[in-house]
Amino acid sequence: MTSQQPVADLSGLVVERWGAVQHRVAAAARDAGRDPRDVAILLASKTMPVAVVRAAALAGATLLGENRVQELVAKAPELVDLAPTWHVIGPLQSNKVNAALRWATCVQTVGDLALATRLSRRCEAVERDLDVMVQVNVSGEPTKAGVAPQTAVDLALAVGGLPRLRLTGLMTIGARSDDPAPVRAGFALLRGLRDEIAASGAPGCGEVTELSMGMSGDLELAVAEGATVVRVGSAVFGPRQG
Ligand SMILES: *Cc1c(COP(=O)(O)O)cnc(C)c1O
Repeated sequence: MTSQQPVADLSGLVVERWGAVQHRVAAAARDAGRDPRDVAILLASKTMPVAVVRAAALAGATLLGENRVQELVAKAPELVDLAPTWHVIGPLQSNKVNAALRWATCVQTVGDLALATRLSRRCEAVERDLDVMVQVNVSGEPTKAGVAPQTAVDLALAVGGLPRLRLTGLMTIGARSDDPAPVRAGFALLRGLRDEIAASGAPGCGEVTELSMGMSGDLELAVAEGATVVRVGSAVFGPRQG
């Protein structure tokens, strides 16, 4: 957060930039021959103060994502009047599962069966359902979380079979590259994996439609490759500090 910048100023900018991102997504969808309404924009609110997130939510950003459970638990109660939908988009430690599930309707970052099993057990205990996505490391960069593409289908089929979990799709973070070709190839790879899972006929895999991919810097490439959810932070909030 730019501590020098008053929240009121930032809130005005955020509303303006949210509109600009909507235009970018719509233009990318039209270029790809897709209906802009088929691409949801998730606002990644990490590090942003709740007043600024509120301004964005009032402007229409009602699908929110948090990386850190501590931030989710701090912000979500302050925004209940706006009833946003919260997704977990960062690594979820097992000791944070209960806290996360108090607010999140979807965990996009399931990268192994241990986490999926823990989520399933918790959901059974409290008698609720949970949407999940399997996170795939399409670029193979060692700093990125997610299951390897080679084992993504096996993991997805296992997750789809767990009680109380509804596997909705796959999520990835695009390759870090100035060359669009490998970034786009990674997104295409994710789409192929989703199609393979959906076509498998395995239990719990019939509703696998979502592709959560694309961020501020590469959302056009993701939409061209079929993204149904793009996750945007800095294009709305400005560059993060630190
Ligand atoms: C921060 C974050 C985003 C948004 O990134 P920007 O480049 O700021 O748009 C998207 N997805 C995840 C998982 C993130 O952590």
